[in-house]
Amino acid sequence: MEYTSLPGLDRPVSRIGLGTWVVGGWMWGGAEEKEAIEAIEAAVDAGICFLDTAPVYGFGRAEEIVGKAIGRIGRDRVVVATKAGLEWNDREEIRRNSSPERLRKEIDESLRRLGVDSIDLYQVHWPDARVPVEATAQALLSFQAEGKIRALGVSNYSPSQMEAWRKVAPLHTDQPPYNLFERGIERDVLPYCQENRIGVVAYGVLCRGLLTGKFAAHHSFAAGDIRRFDPKFQGDTFRRYLAAVDDLRPLAQGHGCTLAQMAARWALQQPGISVVLWGARRPTQILEAAQMPPTLLSDHDLGKIDRILERRIPEPIGPEFMAPPL
Ligand code: NAP
Repeated sequence: MEYTSLPGLDRPVSRIGLGTWVVGGWMWGGAEEKEAIEAIEAAVDAGICFLDTAPVYGFGRAEEIVGKAIGRIGRDRVVVATKAGLEWNDREEIRRNSSPERLRKEIDESLRRLGVDSIDLYQVHWPDARVPVEATAQALLSFQAEGKIRALGVSNYSPSQMEAWRKVAPLHTDQPPYNLFERGIERDVLPYCQENRIGVVAYGVLCRGLLTGKFAAHHSFAAGDIRRFDPKFQGDTFRRYLAAVDDLRPLAQGHGCTLAQMAARWALQQPGISVVLWGARRPTQILEAAQMPPTLLSDHDLGKIDRILERRIPEPIGPEFMAPPL
């Protein structure tokens, strides 16, 4: 396992982090708790110490499962990252709310569900246009002063929102979407983070499983699975992305790795990326990440990948469909 340091944290983190959205079940067609706990234990045993979760993942369920796993594994073996700033009602409708009052309520609930005294990295999940960024940043700063969190992070923020944040509080990390098919952050977010020494924890590195190469055009997703309405998984668009997957696969095989491992390696090699999150619901899925060969992709390989993407997907679709309503 490769390790790195993240600003604001005094211990190394694995460059692969385990993503636990799927573990909550919500938007992933359900999940099995026992398998999920085993996946977290397998990840940590294999050296993946960075765990990313959020209250909204299964409306508390993912955090509770992570908490149960931490109880078995031991708090000192993991770096726990969670988020705040999304609220939900009993119809499971979500909306953004980064007000200090909402965050104050969320922090204590997250600490309780996770069964920890402090959270290593606390991230604002989505920007909330109704609340000044500065007020949200101040709230996290006060949690830090109270010893409830260590590092301060945001997710899905633009450079101007991060700039506003940094006027009142340190910003240690950003968590944006990034994978071979979704490269929008290369334009502005990634250069901004690099210039300002903000750690980047990239999410969606497998493009919700598309970059594992396991899907065929006729695949039927379970009720409630996000991929039922993800634009990349629909009709001709899905077929175009699958054709790109087919073209990428031999390149991965040539390096003695799976397509998913190559996708993660590609992201890890991009300048400015600190950690990539790999979502997994069962041990075998995350062990594939842990077994990633150390081989780097050469400039020639990177060029080949770019040409495949240009040919198969001349007009890429971004991950914007995931943005929750205000
Ligand atoms: P992802 O990592 O791109 O894809 C994860 C999915 O791929 C898994 O749920 C699983 O789906 C499939 N998969 C993983 N390993 C596999 C393997 N070895 N073989 C076959 N299939 C495999 O997507 P993600 O979960 O959306 O993103 C990762 C993490 O990033 C999340 O868990 C969350 O922590 C974070 N995230 C953050 C935000 C944000 O707004 N900050 C947004 C999205 C995600 P199936 O088993 O269902 O096929």
